[in-house]
Amino acid sequence: MVYFFAAGKSDGDASLRSLLGGKGANLAEMATIGIPVPPGFTITTEVCDMYYKGGKTFPEGLKAQVNENLAKLEAETGKKLGDPTNPLLVSVRSGAADSMPGMMDTILNLGINDAVVEGLIKKSNNPRFAWDSYRRFIQMFADVAMDVDKENFEHALDAMKKRRGVSLDTELSADDLKELVQEYKVIYKKIKGEDFPTDAQQQMWLSSEAVFRSWNNERAIYYRKSNDIKGLLGTAVNIQSMVFGNMGETSGTGVCFSRNPSNGDNYFYGEYLMNAQGEDVVAGIRTPQKMSILESRMWSDANTISEADRVANYPSLEEKMPEAYKQLVGVRDLLEKHYKDMQDMEFTIESGILYILQTRNGKRTGSAAVKMAVDMQKEGLIDDKTAVLRVKPEQLDQLLHPRFKAGTKKEIIAKGLNASPGAAVGKVVFSAKTAIEWAEQGKRIILVRIETSPEDIQGMAVSKGILTARGGATSHAAVVARQMGKPCVAGCGALHIDYNTLQMEVGGKIIKQGEWISFDGSTGEVYLGQVETEEAVLSGAFGELMAMADKYSTMKVRANADSPKDATIARNFGAVGIGLTRTEHMFFEGTRINSVRKMILSKNLEDREAALAELEPMQKGDFYGIFEAMEGLPVIIRLLDPPLHEFLPQSEKEQEEMGKLLGVPTEEVRQRVHQLHEFNPMLGFRGSRLGIVFPEIYKMQIRAIVDAAIELTKKGTKVIAEIMFPLIAVKQELDILVTIAKAIIAEKEAAAGIKAHILLGTMIEIPRAAITADEIAETAEFFSFGTNDLTQMTCGLSRDDSGSFLGAYVDQGIFEYEPFQVLDQTGVGRLMKLAIELGRKTKPNLEIGICGEHGGEPKTVMFCHEIGMNYVSCSPFRVPIARLAAAHAAIKGLK
Ligand code: ADP
Ligand code: MG
Ligand code: MG
Repeated sequence: MVYFFAAGKSDGDASLRSLLGGKGANLAEMATIGIPVPPGFTITTEVCDMYYKGGKTFPEGLKAQVNENLAKLEAETGKKLGDPTNPLLVSVRSGAADSMPGMMDTILNLGINDAVVEGLIKKSNNPRFAWDSYRRFIQMFADVAMDVDKENFEHALDAMKKRRGVSLDTELSADDLKELVQEYKVIYKKIKGEDFPTDAQQQMWLSSEAVFRSWNNERAIYYRKSNDIKGLLGTAVNIQSMVFGNMGETSGTGVCFSRNPSNGDNYFYGEYLMNAQGEDVVAGIRTPQKMSILESRMWSDANTISEADRVANYPSLEEKMPEAYKQLVGVRDLLEKHYKDMQDMEFTIESGILYILQTRNGKRTGSAAVKMAVDMQKEGLIDDKTAVLRVKPEQLDQLLHPRFKAGTKKEIIAKGLNASPGAAVGKVVFSAKTAIEWAEQGKRIILVRIETSPEDIQGMAVSKGILTARGGATSHAAVVARQMGKPCVAGCGALHIDYNTLQMEVGGKIIKQGEWISFDGSTGEVYLGQVETEEAVLSGAFGELMAMADKYSTMKVRANADSPKDATIARNFGAVGIGLTRTEHMFFEGTRINSVRKMILSKNLEDREAALAELEPMQKGDFYGIFEAMEGLPVIIRLLDPPLHEFLPQSEKEQEEMGKLLGVPTEEVRQRVHQLHEFNPMLGFRGSRLGIVFPEIYKMQIRAIVDAAIELTKKGTKVIAEIMFPLIAVKQELDILVTIAKAIIAEKEAAAGIKAHILLGTMIEIPRAAITADEIAETAEFFSFGTNDLTQMTCGLSRDDSGSFLGAYVDQGIFEYEPFQVLDQTGVGRLMKLAIELGRKTKPNLEIGICGEHGGEPKTVMFCHEIGMNYVSCSPFRVPIARLAAAHAAIKGLK
């Protein structure tokens, strides 16, 4: 239940991460490989699980094991917990197997009381440090373990600073802090009705319990949910001897990354504060300073601070404490080589001596992930496969988002820290609550805060970007934004935000809540108004990574595209075909809808054919454009799918206008709309059922496809057309339609005197079709899974009506994920597997793919690889994501 760690004496190591949590496992590992880590011990995640299962009580035997390890720690440090003459102080730290930065609780300086503080003074000869530690402990312990809001203490601290006429904590004297400790105790007693606990053992157990409790606090639960962290036992508790960054001007603390987590550049990146402890750096109380001279100068340049001013007031650690810095660079190199990944480290310097308190594989933006993977592969640190696996497919999403259009005029109003890249455009809101409300109304918003805290994460999640006035590159806003893949500019000091009046003043301008701003997370620039954006491109490291990925993938990636423009985007993103062209979208373009409506209102075949004849040249033009854009690559065109009523206006006013335009009495329009009304249109008169009853519609579309294909083939353009019949349930439906199509193709080929490359196939989107796929494959030349309809019909869930309860289903674990977002592999997936087996029994080389929304979702893509699909098809912007997921599936399959 308890694992000790100290130089040469660690019970655990990095491989025990699920048991010891990431923090505990890495502390043990670091202690073993010679990194200076303060010794301590870890209570395992299993104990957390037992704690909850046992109705929030510690398991039997834990006490003895903890005491045994505490004795070991006391021997190791030569100090004793609670002993006034030679006190040991410890931190009690949370830490789960997956890192959840800042979501759970940690308590520092534990073991202090009125007697111990005197002992600390005597031993350190530094009363200011001792009282500072004491007041920090009361506040943290009261807040985390005893449910006394830290604000109560912060008010007292602020009042004290005001009385002394100072602005920083570090300017308070030992006497001030001593006085503050007395005040804190009074505040505590007033709220809790009892004295502040003085017994060190009691403090330790209460704190450990508080850490276990923090596993299930609201923000930790939300964090796990939004990051898809599942199946963990709980948090470990790390009890570790304290080292002190608050001992004066040769002490300090900081957070650093072995490479830049925002853009991936290979230089030491981070921040520190002198005479500070714990979270001071992240909390944004004082402006932290940079690690290296290089980074420090980048910072001062961006903030137009002169070199003299920088050196005097904002020196880098490299300048301030060259020895400790050099040592830290050594640690950085060692840890990166050891873990073969970018490290995020926490350190403290106590009177000039360096200690490392944490290391983990650092969170990073999508573009940094790509850059680092490619760089590390080139440096020989990792191999190709590892490089490809290093980037999560979903992370590419950030690189595929728009950026600001080059050359557009922008009015810069401020510049902050470029904390997380990307272009953000939205309406200003000043609170997470408003952010959530406005986002629900479909507004694009930018969350602007003085600084953010864990309470804000839901608001951050719905924003297009996050902009803060305070805080550095490792502030809460920056860390969370990078991880969410949101653009973020932090520490933008020019913003004067007023939460009361809901406005901010920037360089003399007032910006109110609801006004548009834009900002660039890659440069830190903030602009007035809505700046125009443009699409991303695959270049540099991104292109190199994709090329590496394609070497391994066996499944192809196509795109769903309805226009030559989308087809071109898809091709540029590496799509090797079109898996779905929806012809109905074309029916709405320009004035075409009038011909479509004329067709629907026609009373006889002749009128219908006349209306369709108007559409035919336009359809041919559409297909011509797409075939041309996809020259040499296959293009699947799906014939008309939705029920006809979707093309008619529903409101009386629109019906009247339409009647006038087409010269039909309004009453007749109304009647037709009424006639076409269905109770359950998704299961009604749509898809191939339209083609069977009104064959002239499909005939027109097929003629347009064949004509376009033949015309281009004649010109020497290679066309591979695949005509897809939707919503087939029974083989005989497909037989009828394929016979019609074959006749048209034969006739047109004969007339033109050339052969066109055209396949005839079907969607598999009705369970009956999946079950009888062997029969259907006798006629079909290809299958494409329409997983939206297939999910609806297999699960008996209406995509449009299930929103009201599916959330509850996911919360209760009935479905692991929303089945319309992530394929239900157990149910729908099983049916697909069956259909593939049956289909290939009839035609071993049957081409099979997927064209539903799921085709761009990484978990689904991997599944499609496993069940042997030839390709997945997804929206153009998800093509690289699907390509990478396909490579991951192939590499993991190889291992
Ligand atoms: P989180 O998981 O939220 O980062 P940590 O447990 O890492 O919480 O603690 C937060 C900070 O407290 C650390 O970054 C470190 O600076 C400080 N800290 C924790 N334990 C000690 C210790 N034993 N000595 C000195 N500082 C500590
Ligand atoms: Mg930490
Ligand atoms: Mg469908």
